[in-house]
Amino acid sequence: MKDNEARRTLRLFVGSVVLSGLACLAWAALSFDARESLLLPLIVAGLVVVASTCRVQVNVRAQFIVTPAGAAILVAVAMLPTPWATICVAVGAVVARVLLRQQPHKAAFNASKDTAAATVAGAIFQAVGVPPVASAEAASVPWWTYLLALGAAAVAQAMLDMLAITTVVSLASRTSWRRALAREIDAGAAVRLADLAVAAATIVLYLVNPLLLAATPLAVVVTFLSQRHRTYLREERRAWQSLAASTDALSTSGLDGVIHTAIKGAADLFPDLEIEVELRLGGNLRVVRGGQFGVLYDGDAASAPVATGPTIDIPLGANPGGDEPLGMLRLRFRVEARLTDREQHMLTTFAAGLSTAIRNAAAYAEVSRLADKNAYDATHDALTDLPNRRYLYERTTELLAGPDREQLAMMLLDLDYFKEVNDTLGHDAGDRVLVEVADRLRTAAGNALVARLGGDEFAILFSAIPSSAAAVRRARDVLKSLHRPMDLDGVLISLHTSAGLAIAGDSTDTGELLRRADVAMYQAKDSGRQVALYARARDSADLTRLELAGALPRAVEDNEFTVVFQPIVDLASGKVIAAEALTRWAHPDLGDLPPSTFLGLIERSGLLTPFTEVVLDRALTAAASWRRAGFDLQIAVNVSPRSLADPALPRTVRRALEQYGVPGERLTLELTETAAIGHLDVVTRGAAALRDLDVQIALDDFGTRHSSLSAVFQVPVNELKIDRTFVAELDSSPEAMAVVRSIIELGRSLDHEVVAEGIEEASQRQALWELGCTSGQGSLFGWPPQSSEDLLATLQRGYNDVPGTLAAELHPEAQVVRLPRQGSRVDTEAVDEVDLQAKRR
Ligand code: C2E
Ligand code: CA
Ligand code: CA
Repeated sequence: MKDNEARRTLRLFVGSVVLSGLACLAWAALSFDARESLLLPLIVAGLVVVASTCRVQVNVRAQFIVTPAGAAILVAVAMLPTPWATICVAVGAVVARVLLRQQPHKAAFNASKDTAAATVAGAIFQAVGVPPVASAEAASVPWWTYLLALGAAAVAQAMLDMLAITTVVSLASRTSWRRALAREIDAGAAVRLADLAVAAATIVLYLVNPLLLAATPLAVVVTFLSQRHRTYLREERRAWQSLAASTDALSTSGLDGVIHTAIKGAADLFPDLEIEVELRLGGNLRVVRGGQFGVLYDGDAASAPVATGPTIDIPLGANPGGDEPLGMLRLRFRVEARLTDREQHMLTTFAAGLSTAIRNAAAYAEVSRLADKNAYDATHDALTDLPNRRYLYERTTELLAGPDREQLAMMLLDLDYFKEVNDTLGHDAGDRVLVEVADRLRTAAGNALVARLGGDEFAILFSAIPSSAAAVRRARDVLKSLHRPMDLDGVLISLHTSAGLAIAGDSTDTGELLRRADVAMYQAKDSGRQVALYARARDSADLTRLELAGALPRAVEDNEFTVVFQPIVDLASGKVIAAEALTRWAHPDLGDLPPSTFLGLIERSGLLTPFTEVVLDRALTAAASWRRAGFDLQIAVNVSPRSLADPALPRTVRRALEQYGVPGERLTLELTETAAIGHLDVVTRGAAALRDLDVQIALDDFGTRHSSLSAVFQVPVNELKIDRTFVAELDSSPEAMAVVRSIIELGRSLDHEVVAEGIEEASQRQALWELGCTSGQGSLFGWPPQSSEDLLATLQRGYNDVPGTLAAELHPEAQVVRLPRQGSRVDTEAVDEVDLQAKRR
């Protein structure tokens, strides 16, 4: 271990110093000449004793001690032959240490060090060839030779002394040797010069009158006592000043600053001691340790290096209430020592200042932590930890003001069927889905900013996008990350999303950029695409859409929805076998609105359940009234697959069937967007529950991208509806013909009913019938769809006075006659949009 090594080296060094002192003494004992008077040696030895016991503490702690012992040694070697000088110094030094009650090993070290120094300094006198001052030959030697010899001896003595002390201090305190030497020179140089001067003066006094030599010890004592007092006063003043400065310096903000300043301040007050501050914060014990040379350790108490030595501990930051103290201020000594009263007082004052500073810093830290947390909470979503709408808004505004604004792209997405996940699997599952989605988006988006806008809506702000094509590519990549199915307690869910993209381009305003991305998202949903880029040309209708969203809750409440019916006809006979309920929104300002304008909004608004109930009620009311009039028609109601995932739907349906007295098998529910539902087995379960009520299930818009073949096998279905786009192209497109043919084949082999939509021409009816399709609907059999009462009247009137028919029989060369148009209303989506725009202006 390092500590042990240093201790061994120290012992070795002290031992060798003692040995060399003994060696010098032995040499002196062998080579001294007898002399007639022992008076002078006795005086010199007394001088050494007095000088060695006159100690002045230069620093607060007894680390740096000044004695005029060096001067006494110089006087000894100048006055006496070297062996005598060596013996006198050895005897004097030992006596002095005994008087001082020094520990034996210290006494031995100090006495040996002085003895050896005397021998070496004496050797220099001999080498220069100067006889002792107190000898007969001395008179013939010029005074400056003495001065020279004394100077050289002083240098040698000082060097030996300093080397010995430096080495011992550095080994004992484990500081670097160089640092210890620097301090020794710094503090000791003046003392060495003073030694030389005192020695020279003493010799001059002796030359003037040998008796004066006896008075020197007295002079030495007086001088050093006054010196000691001056040093004490100076030290006192310095200490108070540095206490004031240290306590002032503590009023920095920040705990680290306070503690590090405290270490420095305490080290100024108590030089040469190790200062330690121990702090208990949040269950951790932190230790900061240092001294005059700065902070040496700052960290966990457990990993701090072992520190030894007696300590004084002052508790810090204890509340008046008597709580556990926040920490401890600790002074560590190298050796057992006591503080003076003044030091004790200073320490208490300083610790009180430190306590206050620590409490303030801790309070300040807590306040700023709270402020940071509030700022964070205000801009982040608690569930997913993603930035929220506000953060996105601020950041986008910032970037839009910057130089790279043109390369920004905003992507908006929401999850399809998220509400169903919540409703069927519970909110915990919903939360887990959101967290997972957030994680995937974050990973996939790289350095782009991902935000949660609320509910199942997310936004991603891309920067440095070179082109709109690049933006679409990035968006697709991000969406891909959501495709991997998610396991929710065994239920595998694959998420479907559509995303809208808007490039910053000329829109400088964050609100506008977000609105455009929003518009694009609905465009994507409507067109069944994954990603849609905002297109200004298609925007104005969407503006209305956003306004409609606001009016929706009122519309549901005030029953602004009406239902009209389109007859479904047996293609061969022209007989009406069913009617499909189609919903309109009788908007008080905008007039009748087609489903395309509001269905999406309803699905996203959470109003889907009450809406579905209203439509079911109207449809079954109509069916019941027709039945009473003798027309037992199948009634077809469109339902969003979202409703199907609603576990309450079967109950609602049963209640409505019972209420209106319509048998379950008379109701057909038409499902669209089956591509999406195919993945959610909850939907399949919902459909199965309806089948238990004998309710029929139809797959709407069959053959289009909304629908998928696999859904036929997953969802229990009774009927397929051929999308009207195929019917429209039947005459002109062989592909459309092939699709229709295969749908009819599929229906036949699965024993499903097949109904064709959008039959506008007699030729289409004919072609479909020839392909094996038995029923269909479309403007050929009457346009537009009528109210329940109007349809009843039409049925009662019948075609060619045959009630319940709308067209002639398809017999060899069948003739189909259109119903007269009612009013002048032309119902196409294009006109709806023009209408809406006109009304907006
Ligand atoms: P859909 O189920 O495919 O309904 C047929 C749509 O085609 C209706 O449009 C109907 O007016 C139109 N149509 C039928 N025959 C012809 C024709 O010969 N020529 C032309 N040009 N159009 C024809 P509508 O009423 O705008 O409904 C659009 C879609 O809205 C419906 O498509 C259906 O998916 C949905 N929808 C309508 N009512 C409801 C409802 O109450 N609930 C739900 N969930 N969806 C509904
Ligand atoms: Ca339909
Ligand atoms: Ca359809």
